[in-house]
Order: sequence, then C-alpha cells, then structure tokens
Amino acid sequence: MKISIASGKGGTGKTTIAVNMALSLDDAMLIDCDVEEPNCHLFFKEPMEKVRDVGIPVPEFDLDKCDRCGKCADFCQYNAIAVIKDKLLFFEELCHGCGGCKIICPLDVITEVEHFLGVIEKGGTDDMVLYHGLLNIGEPFGVPIIRTVKDLADDSKTVIFDSPPGTACPAVEAMNDSDYVILVTEPTPFGLHDLRLAVDVVIKIGTPFGVVVNRGGIGDDRVDRYCREEEIPLLATIPNDLDIARLYSKGIPIIKGMPEYKDVFAGIYDKIDEIIDGRGAY
Ligand code: SF4
Ligand code: SF4
Repeated sequence: MKISIASGKGGTGKTTIAVNMALSLDDAMLIDCDVEEPNCHLFFKEPMEKVRDVGIPVPEFDLDKCDRCGKCADFCQYNAIAVIKDKLLFFEELCHGCGGCKIICPLDVITEVEHFLGVIEKGGTDDMVLYHGLLNIGEPFGVPIIRTVKDLADDSKTVIFDSPPGTACPAVEAMNDSDYVILVTEPTPFGLHDLRLAVDVVIKIGTPFGVVVNRGGIGDDRVDRYCREEEIPLLATIPNDLDIARLYSKGIPIIKGMPEYKDVFAGIYDKIDEIIDGRGAY
C-alpha cells in the first residue's frame, strides 16, 4: 500500500508522523518527497549516500543554422524560449524538459543536453530503507526529482511518502498515485484553514484520505468538528507532549524514546487498511 503524508502548510509535524509510522510497521519503506528541504533523514544516525543524479533534457540551439522562425518559442508553454527580431533567448531555469521544441523545430537545429536538478540519496536503517530527493539550491522545479524518487517505491512493501507541504504542483505530484492520503494538521484556526485547502486538493485528486491531528490540546475542537461534519476519518490525535518535543529536538523518533506510541502509529495504518477494505468508518 502507498500512503502519502501531506499537509496544507509546513510545520504541522508531517515528517514526524511519516517517520514514526514507517518505523512502526514491519515491512515499510519511507520516501521523502519534500525535495526542497528533505528532513526525514535527521531522525536516522547513518548518513545518506548518493544513489544517482537527476536531470532533465534541455534544448541546445545551433544558432548558425536557426532562422529565428519562432516556432519553438510559440510552442513552449513555459516561456522558456523567446525570439525577438534576430535574437533567440533561452531561459534554462524555466525549461521543464518536455522535448517539444526539438520535435517542432522545422530545421532540426535543436539537440538536447542534460541539466542536472539534484540527487537521490539512500539511508534509513537495516530494516527500513529511506530514499529522498534533494533539489540543487536555486533550482525552481523539483517535480522531476519527486517523480524519480517515487519510482524507487517497492510495491511489495508499505510505502510512506512524506509529501512537500502546501497544495502546489510538488505536493500534488507526491500525493498522486497513492492509495491513501493522511493530512496532518494542528487543532488551531490556522490549521483548520490550511486543512480545508488541502482537503479540496485531495478531493480533486480523488484519493481517499483521513486526518491526523498533531499537538492535540493546543487549540480548540474546530478541526474535530469539521472532520465529523464532513465525514472525514480522524485517524489519530498525537498530544502536545513535552517529552515528544524533547525527542524531536534531539532528532529521536517518538517510538524510539516512547515505545508505547508504536501502537498509536501502527494503529493509523490499521484504520486505513480497514477503510480501504470497506470495514472502516467511512
Ligand atoms: S523552431 Fe528551430 S529554427 Fe525556428 S527559431 Fe526555434 S530553433 Fe530556430
Ligand atoms: S523542452 Fe519543453 S519546456 Fe523546455 S524549452 Fe523546449 S518546449 Fe520549452
């Protein structure tokens, strides 16, 4: 089963839930899709090791043969090419590597070269593999790295994806193809506001989803009421506990410092399994 852990905003404890869930299950792997700022690895002692580079093919123009017809610029939906009078300008940082300009060029003067976006790294423990993608600083476009790191998912395992925060393309890409999405939120008005945005996106994607409330007790019960009214499964509430915060600040997974929480995180998986099987509440 593939489970994405997502949230409408950063700082809700999404990574904490992802790491502890993965460590609570017998045969899981963890894939950190937050390629701008992967941080699951901070909970593991072993350093991450590079697996491979990730790049996209970008066009290279033979300007001696190009007649500046502008067809490539007209085609490019990302405005990565501009033809102004006798000048052809290419904005590499806007290129998504779709290859369309090369196909459309009537004079066949475009070749493709690799533009490196970042790397895939591997770590984790002997029992649980962690992969993450790491976008090079200054690169605006992490989706190809998210796709590449997701491809490493082992279908024979329960795969936990830690999605980027928010509701933009990288988060959608990370959630896409999952069997279930867990939305992590805090019980505050801000948490509820961002949860509603995330719910709208997941409904559009069409994946079943539920909510985990982190730092339960710090706010009010509006998130609980919202979930009840909208018939969204509330999978678990992790309390606002000083001992949990202390473990977090030291980079220690909750279930390592407080083993009694292993059942709580494994229980989230059990509830999802029941829901997908049609035995659960929704
Ligand atoms: S389509 Fe080809 S020939 Fe036309 S401007 Fe682009 S690169 Fe030059
Ligand atoms: S490869 Fe695609 S995105 Fe990049 S410049 Fe060509 S048409 Fe635009």
